[in-house]
Amino acid sequence: MELRILGCYGGSAPGYRLTSFLINNKVLVDAGSVTSSLTIKEQTDIEAVLLSHSHLDHVFGIPFLADNINGRKNAPIDIASVKEVIEPVKDHILNDRIWPDFTQIPHTISPVLRFKMIEEDAEFTINGLRVRAVKVSHSIPTVGYIIGDESGTIAYTADTGPTNKIWEKINQEKNLKFIITEVSYPNSMRGLAEISRHLTAEMLKEEIKKIAIPNLPIYIYHLKPAFIEEIKKDIASLNMPNVTLLAQGETYRF
Ligand SMILES: [Zn+2]
Ligand SMILES: [Zn+2]
Repeated sequence: MELRILGCYGGSAPGYRLTSFLINNKVLVDAGSVTSSLTIKEQTDIEAVLLSHSHLDHVFGIPFLADNINGRKNAPIDIASVKEVIEPVKDHILNDRIWPDFTQIPHTISPVLRFKMIEEDAEFTINGLRVRAVKVSHSIPTVGYIIGDESGTIAYTADTGPTNKIWEKINQEKNLKFIITEVSYPNSMRGLAEISRHLTAEMLKEEIKKIAIPNLPIYIYHLKPAFIEEIKKDIASLNMPNVTLLAQGETYRF
């Protein structure tokens, strides 16, 4: 599996791109910075998008991706997630008011985008990847993903506050290579992290205790660019060698 980190921040500023990962050049996981990171050719090669939730920093690239690939592909791109995530994208973004409804363009038989509703915790296959969506504990309905192929599995918790189910699922995985999870705010802003259902480094430490697989690499994403230096210090002071920052622009292979 090849995982390319297009963007991995919980905000947008020069040098800090919104969350979006690309697996095997075909499957996008969240769409924050897809069109600001990939060439038109690379965007055209995408066959499916897995959405964790409908917050703008994770869906921002979908309207522009649809516009860029219109007329360049024979088959629609599947926008996949659970119903509670698909519906707001449909109703509030691709609604012919904020942006054209690209599930009807250029025509309904062969549109640019196609919504694919998935069920929580039901494994399905997409472009050779085994995928399972697991609900996490964010301020709106959100799923993390456990994604695997014959070479191994990764887990992405997406945006979440303290949670349990995805850690339980992770503990059942046999060939897990690494976890991507979040820290959004510095320890000094714990109140805001709790209200917005995100994590600080201190809160992450409690979450890590729920992981039963020892020394598993844990990559942190979703740092808010406005507080980046303080968050980095907080993560460093956890003194956990297996906990490092996810690197924007990096490609992870296994
Ligand atoms: Zn986010
Ligand atoms: Zn969010």
